[in-house]
Amino acid sequence: MVNLDLTGKKALVMGVANKRSLGWAIASELIDAGAELAFTYQGERLKGTLEKLTADLPNCRLYDCDVTDDAQIAAVFDDLGQHWDGIDALVHAIAFAPREALDGRYVDTTRSDWLTALEISAFSLVAVARAAEPLFNEGAGVVTLTYHASEKVVPKYNVMAIAKSALEGSVRYLAYELGAKGVRVNAISAGPMRTIAARSIPGFTEMYKAFERSAPLRRNVTHEDVGKLGLFLLSPWSASTTGEVVYTDSGYNVMGMHLVEE
Ligand code: NAP
Repeated sequence: MVNLDLTGKKALVMGVANKRSLGWAIASELIDAGAELAFTYQGERLKGTLEKLTADLPNCRLYDCDVTDDAQIAAVFDDLGQHWDGIDALVHAIAFAPREALDGRYVDTTRSDWLTALEISAFSLVAVARAAEPLFNEGAGVVTLTYHASEKVVPKYNVMAIAKSALEGSVRYLAYELGAKGVRVNAISAGPMRTIAARSIPGFTEMYKAFERSAPLRRNVTHEDVGKLGLFLLSPWSASTTGEVVYTDSGYNVMGMHLVEE
């Protein structure tokens, strides 16, 4: 197999809570390809986990960054600007919605929960893209993570589904605007995967099992599937792909009706 070589390229990954995080799946592939990595985490709680995960990485930089705080976002990119000769890859793997907003009916979502989910899960991509813009090198790539509930109703996904719709719309607008500088922006739409964020979706375990039985490939998606697609979208191998939502979901989204085989 021919391997991608990203030696000397600089990649920032935002949103790794542990080794099951989709952000870590993409980071692992970037590391294997030779890129130099930096990570952001939210709060001291996650610092130790990231320190352990990245202990063997040379020159790895770690930043505390809550994406609801513009000053923290600015501090990350200010510091990267002083230590890196630009950014070649940016991974946005961040989402949050208050648990109450996922437990009940969408129609009952409070104003505050709706705004929180949209701010953290969708606006944050705009905020970090703007802060990163002056540092992007020619041909740089941005990848975010989304889910099919943005297009079709997935019960209980509620306000997170609406945040994913806004996120995918943002990908298209950012792709148009940043494309003038040769920067590409894409989203990976992944099938259900067992992560901390997924645990807050009511009925996730049943969804995970049903998915495996009815997707065209009859299997769930792996971390390697997501990681390798991320690597592809952040590399010159996808040089003319931008503004896209690329599915890695065992083909689930192409079905008009799901028959569960016993
Ligand atoms: P994860 O491991 O829990 O990662 C989510 C990350 O978002 C965590 O590191 C979390 O930090 C961070 N985050 C939340 N609020 C933040 C804030 N205000 N500022 C900075 N970071 C914040 O879960 P994941 O499943 O890998 O999620 C990554 C992305 O993949 C999300 O966009 C998710 O919607 C998407 N996705 C997941 C699936 C799935 O089935 N797992 C499928 C499709 C798409 P804290 O732990 O501190 O909150």
